[in-house]
Parts: sequence; structure tokens; C-alpha cells
Amino acid sequence: VAIKDWAMELGATHYTHLFQPLTGATAEKHDAFIDWSSVDQVIEKFSGKQLIQGEPDASSFPSGGLRNTFEARGYTGWDPSSPVFIWKAGDGVTLCIPSVFFSWTGHVLDNKIPLLRSDAKVSSAILRLLAFTGIQADDIHTTIGLEQEYFVVDRAFRDLRPDLIALGKTVYGASPPKGQELQDHYFGSVKDRILNFMREFEVEALKLGIPVKTRHNEVAPGQHEVAPVFEKASIAIDHNIVLMELMRQVANKHDLSCLLHEKPFEGLNGSGKHCNWSLVTNTGINLIDPTDTPENNLHFLIILTAVLHAVYEHADLLRCSIGSAGNDYRLGGHEAPPAIMSVYLGDQLEEFLNNIEKTGAHKSIEWKKVVDLGLKALPELCRDNTDRNRTSPFAFTGNKFEMRALGSSASPAFLVTVLNVMVADSLTKMLDEIETKFQGNAVTPSSFAEAAIPVVQRYLKESRNIRYSGNNYSEEWIADAKQKKLSNITKSVESFEALLDNNTVRAFDGILNKNELEGRYEISMETYATISNIEANLMRELFYSQIFPAASKQQKEMAESLSQLSLVISAKKITRKQREYLNDFTVALENAIILANELEELRKKAMQMDNPERARFFSLNVVPKGKELRKIVDEIEAVVDDQLWPLPKYRELLFIF
Ligand code: ADP
Ligand code: MG
Repeated sequence: VAIKDWAMELGATHYTHLFQPLTGATAEKHDAFIDWSSVDQVIEKFSGKQLIQGEPDASSFPSGGLRNTFEARGYTGWDPSSPVFIWKAGDGVTLCIPSVFFSWTGHVLDNKIPLLRSDAKVSSAILRLLAFTGIQADDIHTTIGLEQEYFVVDRAFRDLRPDLIALGKTVYGASPPKGQELQDHYFGSVKDRILNFMREFEVEALKLGIPVKTRHNEVAPGQHEVAPVFEKASIAIDHNIVLMELMRQVANKHDLSCLLHEKPFEGLNGSGKHCNWSLVTNTGINLIDPTDTPENNLHFLIILTAVLHAVYEHADLLRCSIGSAGNDYRLGGHEAPPAIMSVYLGDQLEEFLNNIEKTGAHKSIEWKKVVDLGLKALPELCRDNTDRNRTSPFAFTGNKFEMRALGSSASPAFLVTVLNVMVADSLTKMLDEIETKFQGNAVTPSSFAEAAIPVVQRYLKESRNIRYSGNNYSEEWIADAKQKKLSNITKSVESFEALLDNNTVRAFDGILNKNELEGRYEISMETYATISNIEANLMRELFYSQIFPAASKQQKEMAESLSQLSLVISAKKITRKQREYLNDFTVALENAIILANELEELRKKAMQMDNPERARFFSLNVVPKGKELRKIVDEIEAVVDDQLWPLPKYRELLFIF
């Protein structure tokens, strides 16, 4: 009753359970606060049962074979740990109830249940550790801070690009003569029109309780970032998904379009969603911050070792958790981490760990805290516990780990689930080994430390190869990583295999069972194939309906002009360059047609296969063919008469503000 009264006071007429099916987006089905009190009398009603449980039909959500459409019963259940909120869209005002989603058979059909379970799992592993090391806490939470990157373009131009409408990315588009080389957009002053957009979505976000804090221009032209203050994992993720939707809606109001795709523009930076991850006790101690409890941070050493070992042992699963068709275009490209999973710790921590590995001596770290610039007038300037390495996929940043490989449009839920699960797994193994040494005898903090160090040493040694402080974008690292036998899975479809791995099934015990993991594998493969199919279809359609007609007009103009010239200029050598030019242009166009046809043949062939072969075939054959076609079309764009070119160009999309 209280929730209904509050919502209706704010103008709400409907309520919805907001849940996260495996499409990666959110889903909602609105019901009005309306019921019969008797056959002829309508009342406004919202019962406890309606708050707690819903039953959307749900037959069309992906379940990866866990539920057939004829057994469509799926349930939503209220998640009281995430606040309800009121969503205003157009003239509609709706009470939104964050929820979980599961099937009649009890199978997990969403991203939230595993996330909440993984939070509990890592929490209990850590509580077990803290009981030995003398840190007081009854509860632990994963905290997540998400830095959301995005592009903004003018909506009128977006509306003229079928690829941006359908996929949120450009499938063609020549690089403009000036791109991001001058780095003049990064942290540049935000232009008025963009700032007005940012301001409005921030105000709307704050109204929904999303604590947006940071805004700035990113490296690529037209690219920006927004970051809320970190929150408990499941709330931060709910908020991120709502924020993305809010940004899209508010952009429309400003005649802008907000692009959340991982790689909207070839040749420029893609967009990521940096996921900052840490573990905090209910007593307010950040367990990933070694300076939070400077006199007692054995737990930090052990958790750090567990994180390193987890990345070592579950590198492929971690890679899988950030896999998608869109992210494949981004990883390993401009300013994006490669597909090799490694960890950056910084000099001081490296030294600290090396020391432990060699001598077993666990001393507190002496952080060099103050930076001396030799300028008396300035206040004392502090520095962080580590420098930064912007090239690392997974970097320690002083009081948290930053996962930089996640794509901008993705739900962070599965990545965070994987982080929690794998750290819980490594930590549990370490604790089991340490505990066997006591054989039932009483444990004191100092005897625990003594027993723990040799285990820490072994785990550090074993996982050594995934620690890397150099430039992750360099060729040397790729060669070095290969020699160290680290995986470099550049194609997401290959990374999804990690979901079927026995080691994953074991680590996911209590989070998702084997069937549910297989379901996720199937959905990942299917989604990849579906998106790639749309992309290939679009490339062909755009080529024949817009690009070829424009290019052939250009060709005709050149040919007509040459034939008319031949009537007045008899010496052929005077028009030699022009004829060569027309010749080259014709060859390029001819090649483009060949590639467009080959692309279509391959696409058709893929669609005759079943998944997972279909997804693999798309990844190995169709996508690369699309890249070849794109290359030629982009070359054609650069030489066709600007007035004939039908699609807004990169300079119009990115440099007009
Ligand atoms: P950067 O310098 O990496 O761009 P930002 O300020 O843009 O940093 O974003 C850092 C993000 O990390 C913010 O969302 C911030 O709230 C978050 N963060 C800070 N401390 C923690 C923590 N203990 N756990 C999780 N996230 C954190
Ligand atoms: Mg940032």
C-alpha cells in the first residue's frame, strides 16, 4: 500500500517488474493499478502478491533450450535489494520494480540471479578468510563503478544511415583526413549542445537515484564518458542498464542520437565500459585497498593472490564474459586492450609480491605518497598507490581492479558474476590448503600467517605469467604472451567454449548448473550469428541500393565527359590520366560487386547451417569477407563526387558540434 500510494502521488498509473532476460537488455510489461472490486465497480489496486511476483508470458525470450515456447511459463520476482523507482517516458508514469526472472522449472533465465548468487559466494569465501586474519565484518559486498563511453551524433544524420538505425554502427564510412590523431578531443571542453544533453540525462538519472558524477570528452571525436559513483554490484548494474536507456531517450529529445555500440566508427577508438570492481565489508573496509588497514593487511595479500590466480586459471572464461559480435571489432584495435587476459599491478606491488615470492617476508608496503614538483606555492600533492596502465585489460588502480575489456553496450552482469565466481574459487582453494595444515588445531592470526605464506608463494609462482606491466598494445607483448602460452582468443565465438569447460562448471557450482551454462553458450552463439547476419544483409542492401547507384553515376559522368572530350580533343594522350582514373575506378567497382556477391553467398551458406557451426562460419568467413568489401567501398567513397554520395560521412557525423 505504501509503495502504491507513493507511486500514485507521483502520478504513476502502471507498475512493471523490470527484469534482465538473457538478451542483455531489460524487459518490462506494464499493468495498470486497476481491478474489479465487484463485477461493476472498478478500483485502484496493487496487492502484495503483485509486488512480489509477476508472470509475463515470456515465451519469446532466449532460454538456450531451457524452455520451449510451448512451456512458456516464466516468473518475475521482486528484488528488494534494488530500489523501486518511478519512470517517466512521454506522458506515461510507471512504477518500476527491479526483479529476477526464472522458469516454472526453477531454471535461471536472467542475468541477475547468478550475479546475486556470486556476490554471496565470494562474500562467504572472504568472511572465512577474515575470521582468520582478525578483521571484523558480518557481510561483504562487491562494489562496482561503471565508466560508460558513448558517441553522440546529430539525429538527422543518423536517420539517413540505415546501418546506424539497425545496428548502431556504420558498416561503411571512409576515415576523414583528420581523425583523432591530434588527441584534441580528449578532455576537451564539452560543446554547448552536448553539454545540454548531458545535463538533462544527468538530472533525470539523479531523479532515479543513479549517482552520476563524472563527465568528459573521450579520445575520439564525438565520444564522451559518464561515470556514476560506485555502488553495490547489483544496484550499479541495474542503474547502468537504466542509464543507457535514459541516455538514448534524452538524446532523441535533443535531436541527437546516443550510440552505445562498441565500434560505431572504423579507424577511431571504440567504446568500452570500464568496470571497476572491489570488495567492501559492512564495516566500511575496502579489502582491495592495502592502505585501509595498514597495520593488518594479510587479507589483502591473500585476496590479491587469489585474484591473480583466478585470472590465470579462468582467463578464457574471463575473455568469454566480455565476448560479443560488437566487441570483436573493438578488442585489439585503437586504444582497446587486446584479447589476451593479463593483470597490471604497478611497480610497488610487483616489488612487494616479488619479495614475498622470494623471501616469504610479508612486510607492510611503504607507499611513496607525496609528489614533489619543487613548487613551494602548491599544496602537498598526493599520488595514488599505483601509476596507471591504460593498455591493460585488468589493472589494479590502488583501491580496486579496473576491467577495461568490457564493451560499451554490454550488460556488466555476467562479467561481474565471473569475477566473483573465479575469485571465490581461487580463494576457497587457497583456504582449503591453508586449513589442512592445522588439522583441527586452534588457529591464531600469527599461526595462520605462517601457514598462509607458503601457499601464497605457490599461487603467485603459478600465476606469474599473467602479470604484465608493459604496453599491452605492442607486438612484443603478443609474441611474449604466445611464448608464455597465454590464450589470445580474438574471436568471441571461440571464447564462448569456456562456458562448456568442466572447470567452469565446477567453479559455477551453486551459481548456474551445467544445463544453464550450456543454455548461455547457445544464446551467445545464436546472438552472434543473428547480429552477423543482419550486418551482412545490411552491407549488401546498402551496397546495391545506395553505394553502387552513386558510384555508377560517377562512372557514367566520367565516361560521358571523356567521350565528349574525344570529339574536341583529338590527341588521346592529353586525356590519358583521366582514362586511367576511370579505368581504376571501374576495376574497384567491379571488385566491390564481386565481394558483395561473395558475401551474400557465404551468408546464405551460413544460414543453412545450425548453431554453433553457423556462428563459427559467420565469424571465420562472413565477417572477414565483409571487412574486405568495406575496405573497397571506403576507398570508393573517398573519390566519389560528394554531391552524389548518399550517406552522411564521418565528418558530418563527428565534427559538426
Ligand atoms: P578513471 O580515472 O579510471 O577514468 P573515473 O573517475 O572516471 O576514473 O571512474 C572511476 C570509477 O571507479 C567511478 O565509477 C568510481 O566511483 C569507481 N570506484 C571508486 N572506488 C571504487 C571501489 N572501491 N569499488 C568500485 N568502484 C570504485
Ligand atoms: Mg573515467
